[in-house]
Amino acid sequence: ALLRETVARRPEAVALRSVPDGGGTPRQWTYAELLAEAESIASGILARLPRGSRVAIWAPNVPEWPVFEYAAALAGVTLVTLNPAFRAADLTHALGVSEAEMLVHADRSRAYDMAAVVSSVAAGLPRLRHVVSLSDWDDLKGSGPLPAEHEPTSTAPAQIQFTSGTTGAPKAVLLSHQAVVNVPKLTFEALGVLPGATVVSPLPMFHTAGCVISCLGPLWSGGTFVLLERFDPKVLLSTLSEAPGAVLTSVPTVLSTLNEAARDVPDRPVLSSVLTGAAPVRPQLIAETERLFSTTVFNLYGQTELASVLTLTRPDDTVEDKAGTVGRPLPHAECKIVHPESGAVQPLGDQGEICARGYQQMISYYGDPAATARKVDAEGWLHTGDLGSMDATGTLRIGGRLNDLIIRGGENIAPAAIEEVLAEVPGVREAVVVGVPDDVWGEEVAAVVQPVPGAALCLEALLAQCEGRLTPYKIPVHWFLAADLPLTASGKVQRFRVAELAVSGRL
Ligand code: ATP
Repeated sequence: ALLRETVARRPEAVALRSVPDGGGTPRQWTYAELLAEAESIASGILARLPRGSRVAIWAPNVPEWPVFEYAAALAGVTLVTLNPAFRAADLTHALGVSEAEMLVHADRSRAYDMAAVVSSVAAGLPRLRHVVSLSDWDDLKGSGPLPAEHEPTSTAPAQIQFTSGTTGAPKAVLLSHQAVVNVPKLTFEALGVLPGATVVSPLPMFHTAGCVISCLGPLWSGGTFVLLERFDPKVLLSTLSEAPGAVLTSVPTVLSTLNEAARDVPDRPVLSSVLTGAAPVRPQLIAETERLFSTTVFNLYGQTELASVLTLTRPDDTVEDKAGTVGRPLPHAECKIVHPESGAVQPLGDQGEICARGYQQMISYYGDPAATARKVDAEGWLHTGDLGSMDATGTLRIGGRLNDLIIRGGENIAPAAIEEVLAEVPGVREAVVVGVPDDVWGEEVAAVVQPVPGAALCLEALLAQCEGRLTPYKIPVHWFLAADLPLTASGKVQRFRVAELAVSGRL
């Protein structure tokens, strides 16, 4: 219905523009063309499967991706989004867990034969009845008209998205229509995105940030969704230069490489706003982005289980507030901070677990009632697993992951506060603090520091910074330098892998 409404208002406006890997001529669709294409794919899906089925897509960022997302919504089937970096075992697991009945896949990603992997796994998945390569996209189209529109109820399933896997194996999150439609709407309203604005997204389509915010936000504003088929800072910069006044959706790793590419460029585009989220962001990065692109940065906090956004900063927040806090909840979302053990609501300003309740929360972990019951309590509160505190204005400050807490001799140590201190040492690109087993204390604090390329870091400078700022038992006793950190496909540090590497001493 959202797509139809926008088509009725702005049929000739450009809805989707896809920028090929390496640059080159973009492909584009008007709203009227996009609806026609999505309807024809929707009728093709319904010629093969009944409403309510699950249809998966396994592909890098290609323009067929958003078309398939709209088509699934029009057909009333659940879209399952899969990471193109999956290898055979992960793919089998994700298709099995989501009980997908159809798979649409790319033949290749960069240097990876996806078609061969699909052939090797499909036979072992009896539920998977239809496998279609994107090179046969036109065969997927239905010939008849789309059966009379059947509006899904707001709580009906819309998508199964997998978490990014920073703490372990990705989890299958079932999201409703009201979640995936309202979160981008209310986010764009809070950002003040203007009607018709262009939204440029280098983010992967298989996570909520790309699939929900970047892709569905422009439907509300009637603007153009510009999809980068692969993240390349130079291509992103030239794409932004061709779309002055655009909104950029990003994560901190995208911003730091974009800024590196933009620093020495004389004519930089002015951007109306830049969204960052998914991981902590440093004040220096916000300040530089705002200066380079004469823009306003917004810090968004959320998780897949909340269709990506729970809170966001305000335009007039200071740079320190944008990095130190994640702003206030979206309208109509409930949020509270509870004591991790007793569950009692914490006094204002005290740290505890962030809990949320509202339209954006997941229906369930798909097919896993036990995991769902651990995440959502009897009163419907979703426990984020994140530590945070709230001030009298309702502004939230994130204190890291509850499960990342290092417990040293009975003291709880939150890595985030130590990482902030280390990140201020000149020459530090990223610092990750993890607990490693210790015979005396149970756990000890270990720091893994990634230097800025070419920078010379010395332990004395790191220790001097800690000594002035941290209570002694929080100062890391094990130090590792790492040229690279293990990242998820969305550019987030895989903490559990960093901890494993620190324990094995392999860094
Ligand atoms: P998994 O659940 O598989 O371990 P994941 O939690 O990284 O993976 P996501 O749902 O993609 O999967 O990430 C959400 C988490 O990212 C949040 O719970 C929070 O810890 C962190 N996060 C999100 N936004 C921000 C932000 N703006 N600042 C700091 N941390 C953030």
